[in-house]
Amino acid sequence: MDELPQYSNQDYIVGWLCALPRSELTAARMMLDRPHKEPVNQNADDENSYFFGDINGHNIVITCMPPEETGTLSAQKLVQPLKRSFPNMVLHLFVGIGGGIPRNPPTKDSNDDIHLGDVVVGWAEQAGIPAVVQYDHGRYHNEGRVELLSMLDKPNRRLLNALAPIISDREMGQMNFHDHLHRLSDLQNFQHPGLESDTLFEAGYDHVAVDKDALVEADKPHCYRCNPTYIVKRPLRETIYPQFHRGTILSGDLVMRDARKRDQLSKLHHNAVCIEMEAAGVIEDTHCLVVRGIADYADSHKYWSWQNYAAASAAAFARELLHKIRPVVAVSDGSGLNGLVTAEPTLKFDRTVFYNILNQGEQHYRKPRRESITESLSAALACFSQADAMLQESGNDDPALQIKVYFRLMTVECTINFSQTSSPSHVKYANLIAGAQLVQLQFGASGHPPVGWPGEQHG
Ligand SMILES: [Zn+2]
Repeated sequence: MDELPQYSNQDYIVGWLCALPRSELTAARMMLDRPHKEPVNQNADDENSYFFGDINGHNIVITCMPPEETGTLSAQKLVQPLKRSFPNMVLHLFVGIGGGIPRNPPTKDSNDDIHLGDVVVGWAEQAGIPAVVQYDHGRYHNEGRVELLSMLDKPNRRLLNALAPIISDREMGQMNFHDHLHRLSDLQNFQHPGLESDTLFEAGYDHVAVDKDALVEADKPHCYRCNPTYIVKRPLRETIYPQFHRGTILSGDLVMRDARKRDQLSKLHHNAVCIEMEAAGVIEDTHCLVVRGIADYADSHKYWSWQNYAAASAAAFARELLHKIRPVVAVSDGSGLNGLVTAEPTLKFDRTVFYNILNQGEQHYRKPRRESITESLSAALACFSQADAMLQESGNDDPALQIKVYFRLMTVECTINFSQTSSPSHVKYANLIAGAQLVQLQFGASGHPPVGWPGEQHG
């Protein structure tokens, strides 16, 4: 097996947070295209545990709350160390399980008919409605009036934009859930529990308790003493693959096992679709998108068998989302130019990325001199055409080699010109270095394109 790639902390742009090691962390790790080695220099005062890897060219850090810890405060403790250790992290996903709030009365609209194993994303269908509501942080007055003490900010725009193609894919029946879920096909505990075990009881009907050991001995489902006449009649699901829904997510520190209270809270807060226990702790500091697989209905009935599958479907959704966002890489020229650019994984577009860097550099140094851009561009173009000529002569069109040659020439160009010029015209060469670093970042020290990099199909 090839040695795992290793990057620096500055190269990680996406943070994937989760709460449950057995289900959510396992599902998250199984979604990586490939794992990475840990970066060499880790901050000694960072107590989080991390896993590193990539999905669709995005470098990702996965971190999870400690076992047996729940709640918004514990989730919040993940964030500050994460932000300190990974200064360029701009996209955050909070991915895990939650309790679904089924529509009452039931709906025929499949986009709104919430079942176990479905995915809910914290982003409402109408403008002005919060993504996440911290329902236990406010004042509840009589006559049902509620005054919340904090409004949780909306998720990062890049993440929200990625929802549009997924919504359209859903309408066209082209969701890729099954491809992503297939990554867990070797893990017995993560398989679909069967549509027949997805039972929703009326909100007013409480679970009839049975000793768990007796259930196992009798080989009975958890609700076998519950009266089936109270099962809600809903449109039958024909596929085991999850639907996804959008709406407000309720977040708070209470374990919700009461369907009446669940429905009351939903009515009070924008007909919320899901209730969970962590997101309120992190959304303000991260602008994360909250993705929840439905593991139960937040009522008194038992759904033990759904937890892993629900975690898997949430992770599959997050993986699909990352396929709708062009990879971004961090850029730094070592002299204060920092920024994020979209890294399109083809050689042709690398040049466009390069021009973006030149423009960014221009803005950064507040010297909008047209000729400076022109000079930088012509220096870059000279490198590219020189590299093209060399490669054509060699008869080798291996994209990895092309990248190496571009990188090499740009570095040489920078070194020569730095020694010959003085401030402020060295700006253009700083930009060249940034571009060279970008190229190196994308392909690592080995010069090999990452797995799945479309450049591999080049030629
Ligand atoms: Zn029951």
